[in-house]
Amino acid sequence: MGVRVEGEVVKLDRGFPLVRTADGRQFRSEHATNLVKSTKGTASVGTEAGESGRAVIGDRVQLLLPNDHDKAIIERILPRTRELVRKDPTERAVPQVLAANFDRVIIAQALGEVNMRRLERELVLACETGAAVTVVLTKADLAESEQEVASIRSQVQALAGPDTETLVISADAPASVEAVRELLAEGTTTVLVGRSGVGKSSLINLLCGEDVQETGDVRAVDGKGRHTTVSREMVPVPGGGRVVDMPGVRGLGLWEADAGIEAAFSDIAVIAEGCRFRDCKHEKEPGCAVRAAVEAGEVDPARFASYRGLKAETSKMKERREQARWRRKR
Ligand code: GDP
Ligand code: ZN
Repeated sequence: MGVRVEGEVVKLDRGFPLVRTADGRQFRSEHATNLVKSTKGTASVGTEAGESGRAVIGDRVQLLLPNDHDKAIIERILPRTRELVRKDPTERAVPQVLAANFDRVIIAQALGEVNMRRLERELVLACETGAAVTVVLTKADLAESEQEVASIRSQVQALAGPDTETLVISADAPASVEAVRELLAEGTTTVLVGRSGVGKSSLINLLCGEDVQETGDVRAVDGKGRHTTVSREMVPVPGGGRVVDMPGVRGLGLWEADAGIEAAFSDIAVIAEGCRFRDCKHEKEPGCAVRAAVEAGEVDPARFASYRGLKAETSKMKERREQARWRRKR
């Protein structure tokens, strides 16, 4: 047999998950077979171990350290306080958990190339987790003027809403990086999301004062012109908490996102309270306060269109899940 200890998944790459125990020891670990074979279905916050099959970065796990084996065994995944979930990028209607048990999500976009449609989606996914959310606009040094920076910042802030702070940073302005460090309270974990190339690794290196992550300048690129780094690692930041980079996350299909949509579009959610019907879809219903607000120019039509698009995406997903559940039952 062996001893049992609890630990935390601190690194995931192509190999075996690296689990760190409270006393600082680290073990390459494999999943117990019954965990991986688990067919109980979807994981969710607070559910009992094993349902999710595989541990993700940030998971707290029960490890068995066998006497006669060089690798530890992950026997149980402890209930999660929080998880970042997207729809599995394959066609199946199943969720994919990207990270667990974090306190904050930082969404990074390059200031000069802000993609509002992607930002909305990133906000919905981040808000859905229940964690604190911050938007960081990177590479401000590439902007043409202070006015341009201020104007993009306020557009993004308008989209992000009052509960989400928007910071502007630049690798050559140390004070801007310090503002990010202040978000990373001791003992907390922050997940960094954003398209490849926006400067996530550079930010982590600036926070750490050394090159702990390979940046786009040196990273190997495969034959398809893609960065090959897929490792997810929890990096301790001096004078702060820990940061997890999420490389290789391209598509952001919505999974369960109703709460996230309400949070990311809280202005629309507030107006919707004035609709005549509680389940108003803001399509053709009489007495729709949201459509009235759009027509009165109080809600940006593009924002309303995004809201409806994201709502439609989640309800389609729900339908597909129902169908899959029904098929399984038969
Ligand atoms: P990641 O894929 O999100 O981790 O992005 P990287 O950190 O690898 O950065 C992508 C590229 O942007 C690299 O060439 C960086 O040198 C560059 N970069 C990162 N931060 C800044 C910045 O503040 N200003 C400028 N001009 N370039 C930056
Ligand atoms: Zn309505």
